[in-house]
Amino acid sequence: MIQVYKFGGASVKDAKGIKNVCNIINNCQNNLVVVISAMGKTTNAMEELVDAFIKQDQTHIKIAYETVVNYHNQIVNDLFESDDPFLAQFDELLNKLWQRVQQHPGLDYDFEYDQIVPFGEILSTQIVSTYARKIKINNTWLDIRKLIKTDENYRDAGINWGLSSQFVKSKIKFDDNSVFITQGFIGSTINNITTTLGREGSDYSGAVLAHILDANSLTIWKDVPGVLNADPRWYPFAEKLDEISYPEAIELAYYGAQVIHPKTLKPLQNKNIPLFVKSFVDDQARGTVIQSVELSGVEVPVFILKKDQLFITISPKDFSFILEDNLSDIFTFFSKHKVKINLMQNSALNFSVCVNNVRNVSKLIEALQKDFVVRYNENVELVTVRNYTDKAVDKVTIGKEIVDAQLSRNTARYVLKCSEWKF
Ligand code: ASP
Ligand code: MG
Repeated sequence: MIQVYKFGGASVKDAKGIKNVCNIINNCQNNLVVVISAMGKTTNAMEELVDAFIKQDQTHIKIAYETVVNYHNQIVNDLFESDDPFLAQFDELLNKLWQRVQQHPGLDYDFEYDQIVPFGEILSTQIVSTYARKIKINNTWLDIRKLIKTDENYRDAGINWGLSSQFVKSKIKFDDNSVFITQGFIGSTINNITTTLGREGSDYSGAVLAHILDANSLTIWKDVPGVLNADPRWYPFAEKLDEISYPEAIELAYYGAQVIHPKTLKPLQNKNIPLFVKSFVDDQARGTVIQSVELSGVEVPVFILKKDQLFITISPKDFSFILEDNLSDIFTFFSKHKVKINLMQNSALNFSVCVNNVRNVSKLIEALQKDFVVRYNENVELVTVRNYTDKAVDKVTIGKEIVDAQLSRNTARYVLKCSEWKF
């Protein structure tokens, strides 16, 4: 059996976390590829370093670099004795990063970003792999940049599947219970220039590796018990889902649920590889599995809340009907101002949309006002209920003013005014 595990930054944010991750790796009795993110909030810290580097702000380069160094050194000191040879090796790595930010930046921000931010993943995987070896978990550390080949689209590189398959298969060969520890999120061009796959890209890396290796499963280890049917910050009744089908997971992501990105699901779905989402806090708990399942009768309702929305109603000034040519003009305005429509509804005289209340919206409204009467409602939220029932809908709409509602066979969506009903 071949398994791929992916651990996010939160799971390796300190020495205790790393010990726990090693424990989970140790409990796996199969051939294993382990993808590990940068530790804690390191990627954000590296982004600050890149910003300072591009601006050539020496004070902030130093501050940002030292933040990264101190954070990692604390962890290394907690895990290794002061005479461990790894300490010198690790210093060398940090020194490489320092040398890199002492160079003069080129003009391509994305390129520079991809040369600096990946240090976070190299540092984290070096620490985990070496510590695992120290506690007698045999493993091979891999520089994934030698295996995952991409195009030159820095910060959002696309996988070269042909070359990557060839390199991954030739390098990752399993004996009995082999463990490979490697990075997510990064790759390199055919000229060996480092690239990144976009923020949160290591889930995707896990899926790419699972696909190429024909793994039996991918497990993404998180700080939540699995995929929940609602965000517990807003809905205290949130519960874990045991099983979701790939298309349902893609639908949920479309409506804004924080499930797994469709980009990650696709390579798995194509080879029917199940994706487990489990808690690294309780590795024996069942978690959620996303796989190809026939939907079995009654589905649990899933609630997806988008806060801070704007509900805009647009009507032609000349009282003409809302028809194709009007709509096409309206859509052009939206796409020009990069405002994403979360929900739309039209009647004879009105076209209404619910959008994220972002900065560009006021410019869009101004532009629309030349040809249309535009009214809008601030402070609304959009709630989507998949597999809705009357009871489920009541849970999230009672006590709120419904501005707009849309029902399809599986999905109920409500635009709600956030203020309480006043009687
Ligand atoms: N470390 C990268 C990030 O935080 C990639 C990842 O964790 O998926 O975006
Ligand atoms: Mg991360």
